[in-house]
Amino acid sequence: MRFDIVSLFPEFVAQIAAHGVVGRAGERGLLSLHGWNPRDYAEGNYRRVDDRPFGGGPGMVMMIEPLRAAIRAAREADPAPARVVYLSPQGGRLDQRKVRELAALPRLVLLCGRYEGVDERLLQAEVDEEISIGDYVLSGGELAAAVLVDAVARLQDGALNDAESAVQDSFEGDGLLDCPHYTRPVEHALGAVPGVLLSGNHAEIARWRRQQSLGRTWLRRPDLLDEAALSKSDRALLEA
Ligand code: SAM
Repeated sequence: MRFDIVSLFPEFVAQIAAHGVVGRAGERGLLSLHGWNPRDYAEGNYRRVDDRPFGGGPGMVMMIEPLRAAIRAAREADPAPARVVYLSPQGGRLDQRKVRELAALPRLVLLCGRYEGVDERLLQAEVDEEISIGDYVLSGGELAAAVLVDAVARLQDGALNDAESAVQDSFEGDGLLDCPHYTRPVEHALGAVPGVLLSGNHAEIARWRRQQSLGRTWLRRPDLLDEAALSKSDRALLEA
């Protein structure tokens, strides 16, 4: 999968491609990340990319032309069709379902705003979708783009090692929260590992994990249960 990041600070997002799962996915040829700086497409000695808002008020607004040229250059850099996403607090909220949808695409062009945001006309003309990473305001879209790239990259086939398989993660598979995890030592001042995990009885372990997932989801995110794929015995456990 190819990611093109349109940003005044593309190296910010590129950092994520240097580490961990995303870095490894890059090394395995599963994804590539390319930065496009609108300043490189701006005119004049000062290579200006922002200007004052019409109507007055604080802050600056990112101008149409440098962004449009950068987005177009990114689009033309590869023949595969690209979805252009503007990271914005006003977009649809990013969740694992959206991440799965995006992970199936061949390409994403991610537009990162700064200042008060981007001239609305550019958004209307060039952007396919706006995505928010939560109901709070960041000073720029780069962190949001990094979050999106990380979540999408780990779903590329072959990005995760078996031990990190995404299937059992929260929101994946049946839509529940993940169960708790433990590692050595068995005994510690903070507590002991639940005995069932040491039993070697795979059916019992699976049952315990399922109970834990159900219980946690019920306690922490009961809203997820409405859409979770629950069996009869899951329902019995929840009603007990
Ligand atoms: N004036 C804008 C508003 O209230 O909708 C906020 C502008 S914000 C200071 C600057 C940039 O940060 C935005 O253009 C956007 O790219 C990014 N940004 C801020 N919060 C975000 C969020 N929750 N999700 C995704 N991107 C965000």
